[in-house]
Amino acid sequence: MDVTVEPGGKFVAGGTTLVDLMKLNVETPKSLVDINQLPLAQIEATPEGGLKIGALVRNSDLGFNSEVKERYAVLSEALLSGASPQLRNMATTGGNLLQRTRCYYFRDTAYACNKRQPGSGCSAIDGFNRIHAIVGGSEHCVATHPSDMAVAMMALEATVQTRGGSKGERSIALDEFYLLPGTTPDKENVLEPGELITHVTLPKLAEGTKSYYIKLRDRAQYEFALSSAAVVVNVSGGKIRRVRIAFGGIGTRPWRSREAEQELEGKTAEEKNFRAASEAALRGAKPLRDNAFKVELAKRALVRALTVATQTA
Ligand code: SF4
Repeated sequence: MDVTVEPGGKFVAGGTTLVDLMKLNVETPKSLVDINQLPLAQIEATPEGGLKIGALVRNSDLGFNSEVKERYAVLSEALLSGASPQLRNMATTGGNLLQRTRCYYFRDTAYACNKRQPGSGCSAIDGFNRIHAIVGGSEHCVATHPSDMAVAMMALEATVQTRGGSKGERSIALDEFYLLPGTTPDKENVLEPGELITHVTLPKLAEGTKSYYIKLRDRAQYEFALSSAAVVVNVSGGKIRRVRIAFGGIGTRPWRSREAEQELEGKTAEEKNFRAASEAALRGAKPLRDNAFKVELAKRALVRALTVATQTA
């Protein structure tokens, strides 16, 4: 399977982000390569007992897959909380990972935006910034990553497989896939020009592991997260043996919190420990003028997600 794209060109599959942004003149690719006919639409078991998901698997197919619902509930819940059924029928696994921010200024070419036009400035930092990031931002960009799916995959410790570009085939831990904005917010991930996501692999989870995704937003459907939390947890004898935690809606990338994980491991599964973990997770938060509410919202999201996941454990 060889597929290439010329410099300045882009791959397109579902088109739910790219075509949208082309209509707004935010994305102006020199050419498009339609990859929909590539054999990347399968969901298969891995020899190690995990799951290998083709980059062209549609979000609805993945969200309703019986194996995913049973073994990786957090992923199904995240997928089915995103977008609308029509969009989920088109959007792909690979494309979802590469969703671009919903920052209003990024999507409107009348405004300065370092992500869209490097060096032009950031209209959000002194503008209306209610939906923006409270963790991971820089003085050059405070845009949130919009994906729900990627947050669940972060908590599941997914790996991204790619091919093309100068790297050949490679596997990238999702935790190392996304970049912080720093001084180059236009560079959002480690993909090289011409490099294509082919699969995402989920590891086998230990017996008894439970998971849950909660999404808090302005309305119940067809809305992006103001804060979300994904929890993958293993409890035995009343104690948390292993837990993985990621947030959406608050970070410049899907936001894994090792601070919260460390706070919880070895502790009893009870509310006071969940609260301590939420404090640890948000300790470094830097809210902007209009989004201080996200600090408390994110804490409550995590406490709720841990409560639900461990009740079923
Ligand atoms: Fe652009 Fe980022 Fe600033 Fe939004 S927050 S205007 S995406 S630089």
